[in-house]
Amino acid sequence: MKVLVINAGSSSLKYQLIDMDDESVKAKGLCERIGIPGSKLTHKVPGIEDFVVEKDMPTHQTAIELVLEALLDAEHGVVKSVDEIDAVGHRVLHGGSVYTESIKVNDDVKRVIRECFDLGPLHNPANLMGIEACEAAMPGKSNVAVFDTAFGMSLEPYAYRYAIPEEYYDKYKLRRYGFHGTSHMFVSGETIRYANLPEGHQRVIVCHLGNGSSISASVGGKAVDTSMGLTPLEGLVMGTRSGDIDPAVVQFICDHEGLSADDVLTILNKKSGVFALSGNLSSDFRDLSEAANNGNEKAQLALDAFAHKVEKTIGGYLAVMNGADAIAFTGGIGENDCAMRAKILAHFGYAGVKIDAEKNKVRGERCEISTPDSAIRVFVLPTNEELAIARETVRLR
Ligand code: ADP
Repeated sequence: MKVLVINAGSSSLKYQLIDMDDESVKAKGLCERIGIPGSKLTHKVPGIEDFVVEKDMPTHQTAIELVLEALLDAEHGVVKSVDEIDAVGHRVLHGGSVYTESIKVNDDVKRVIRECFDLGPLHNPANLMGIEACEAAMPGKSNVAVFDTAFGMSLEPYAYRYAIPEEYYDKYKLRRYGFHGTSHMFVSGETIRYANLPEGHQRVIVCHLGNGSSISASVGGKAVDTSMGLTPLEGLVMGTRSGDIDPAVVQFICDHEGLSADDVLTILNKKSGVFALSGNLSSDFRDLSEAANNGNEKAQLALDAFAHKVEKTIGGYLAVMNGADAIAFTGGIGENDCAMRAKILAHFGYAGVKIDAEKNKVRGERCEISTPDSAIRVFVLPTNEELAIARETVRLR
């Protein structure tokens, strides 16, 4: 059985065709500059040269048509007919508080995705375009929506409500939603399986550390807390996002710099985080580590501030769950940055965490990095959001 996974952005569209018999990727690719002159599709099939198509893609509809052409191409294709694609899975950012899990798309689902444009203004419109383009190009095929917010829906009200007047929750459903949900769901589930954690001992903390970073606490694969909020801006210090900040800072900058709240939010999303703390050196942890090793104090400050916030969040979640059975690291930094992992985990000696320094050298591979006598088992577990979406698609198609 083959599943096409679609992640549609406002001017881009990523795809993967996954053979679910062995969960292997048959082809993957990216459409860039949709609706902008100079559109380009890059199609990758393992073992052969990339196939690049430079053709106008005025809409997501034309992008999907080109993707199907590439998948069927005589030389670079991987299927003979569209009939070989059994179903399509879509990453959708926001399901509001309606969808607590993935769902097969129908008119109601599309209406809810549309109603959530306000909550996910950059992503939901594009996600819906991706779904409608697939419906038009492959009539009759099942489309499944996998929401990035679904994982956070199992939080209790005391964990998801903001302590602000009730009317804002009642009117607008302003609450903590949490993002990276598909990754947290995948990694927490895979950690339970990989570690063979028995029922009743499945308290897992997932640290998804990448350009965007978030941490979740879950019990038996169900989230009990998560660090991102109404938007992905809340929580950890990130590549270019500030993470938690006193809201009064926004007003102060507006008043003193003559900026609007929108302007400041853009600064907090795009020009803050480790990028800002490093004196605009870089948001990339490889650059920051190299600079810090060469004595750059601002780069060191950025790394220290990042680690400090991660440590506080893990510590908070240990308290929330009255301990943890496993901690898993994922995302570009979590999977690859051994020094950052060691720095963070050094703060959990009090909780009985013991790391095997040799095993912690692992990059981008599943590995248990704690010692056999560690009170909490610690893992590196690469995320795979596309596979998570494909599995949900098979389950619900
Ligand atoms: P995104 O949130 O965009 O998906 P990624 O999960 O790909 O981001 O993570 C990107 C981050 O991972 C970058 O900051 C990058 O520096 C970091 N990273 C990737 N490889 C390494 C490495 N070998 N060592 C340290 N950091 C790394």
